[in-house]
Amino acid sequence: MKTSKFNLLERSKQDAHISLLYNTLHDHQILFDDPELDPEQLFSKINQGKALTAKEAEVIPDLKELGIIINDEFDEEDLFKQWYFDKIRDQTDSIQVTILPAMGCNLACHYCFENEVRENGLMKPEVTEQIIGYLKNRLQQTQAKKLSLHFFGGEPLIHPEPIKRISQELWEFCQKHGVEMSSGMITNGVFLTPDFVDFMTPYGFKWVKITFDGDREEHDKKRVWHNGKGTFDTIYNNLAAVHGKIKIAIGGNFDENNYSSMFSLIDRLKHSPFADDITLARFKPIMSIDSKTAAQDDGKDSNSLCESCSFEEGQIDKIRALEEKTRVAGLPVEERPEMGPCEYHARQSFTIGPDGSIYNCPAFVGLHNLAAGHVKDEQYNEIGEAQLDFQKWDDDCDSCAYLPNCVGGCRYNSVNKTGSLKIKSCDISYLKKATEVFMQRKIEEFIGKGTINNNHDEEIQLPTYGGMAVGDSLSHY
Ligand code: SF4
Ligand code: SF4
Repeated sequence: MKTSKFNLLERSKQDAHISLLYNTLHDHQILFDDPELDPEQLFSKINQGKALTAKEAEVIPDLKELGIIINDEFDEEDLFKQWYFDKIRDQTDSIQVTILPAMGCNLACHYCFENEVRENGLMKPEVTEQIIGYLKNRLQQTQAKKLSLHFFGGEPLIHPEPIKRISQELWEFCQKHGVEMSSGMITNGVFLTPDFVDFMTPYGFKWVKITFDGDREEHDKKRVWHNGKGTFDTIYNNLAAVHGKIKIAIGGNFDENNYSSMFSLIDRLKHSPFADDITLARFKPIMSIDSKTAAQDDGKDSNSLCESCSFEEGQIDKIRALEEKTRVAGLPVEERPEMGPCEYHARQSFTIGPDGSIYNCPAFVGLHNLAAGHVKDEQYNEIGEAQLDFQKWDDDCDSCAYLPNCVGGCRYNSVNKTGSLKIKSCDISYLKKATEVFMQRKIEEFIGKGTINNNHDEEIQLPTYGGMAVGDSLSHY
């Protein structure tokens, strides 16, 4: 027998007798806190064929059952591929769609990733109808039991008509066909009104995600109207006005200038009238893009809409400090790093631009050479099929424990850095650090020293494929 190549072991920084094992393929987490059962020693003995103690031998059947220990002849690569193709790429249980009714925006934030691809295009009524027809067809073809819609832009609320129409029509269809439908919106919040929320609520509208760029002073330097005036108070007051009507996910974009301001933002949110509505708070750095795409060739900073992005390793400590502050403030925060496989990999997760073009990745919107198809057509084009078909990882990835969480990395980064979708984008140092932080936090939680406050609502499904595998199980030895 041998140990799974997808095992990661982390020893507690507080108590050397405690270790957490995390299997990235099966998503199993196992806590070892018996001083007579050290997993590192156990695994080393197994891989060297050495004799086990009675205690060690006792746990072998359970560890085999969980895929942590496997027989010598067992091919984990086959299992990984089966999981990737069946459970991720070709799954048909649920459909997750990001819809952009507009590329334009009412604000002029200088780092916005869409500044260079913005076409000011508003979705036309005929495209709205094509989208409705296309999604009904997909639901019928796949027999999916779940539909999640995410509205985004540009700023979706500069053009709410398609959002309303699509939601109404699909809600009715889903009700009739026993499909569970929910939706949410990523918006800058300046046009968010109780009337809009009241209109949408009967059609499964559950959440909005609003991003702040720091507390009032710093936010107002970055997130501005076209005349340069800040938007903090407008957004804050709009959130107060929809209090009790909708769940709110908070995003925080930071760079060197506004980082410290995020801490006072958290305090302000804690005491806000809508604090009880906040079901998730997530902070991320504004990223610098070294772009090789035709549409983004000036190396500007960027803020991707994707929630699966990896960051530079050094930024994890900063994110962690903000998460800790959020936890202490009693606001819900993500427990685990957002890892893939992202929505690029799943045929039933896709993005529709204002002109009806379909993309496998939301960050591709507006890059017409990367469009996978159009809602007026039933089939994807050759580009779309090829994007789903090619293997995203290479030979070096075969022995990497992070493969199920990474699958060769972000394709948007690949195309930006190398000009080719087919070259992997390896962020292993980020994955290592992020996973270590997650595992240490889990250990703290298990031994009762942590302050995890992970009560965010599962109904909030931000646009990432995230999560994975066979199940999130916890065993304890
Ligand atoms: S791209 Fe890097 S981190 Fe991802 S699976 Fe391959 S080697 Fe591992
Ligand atoms: S390819 Fe990159 S940007 Fe696109 S969905 Fe995946 S992680 Fe996000």
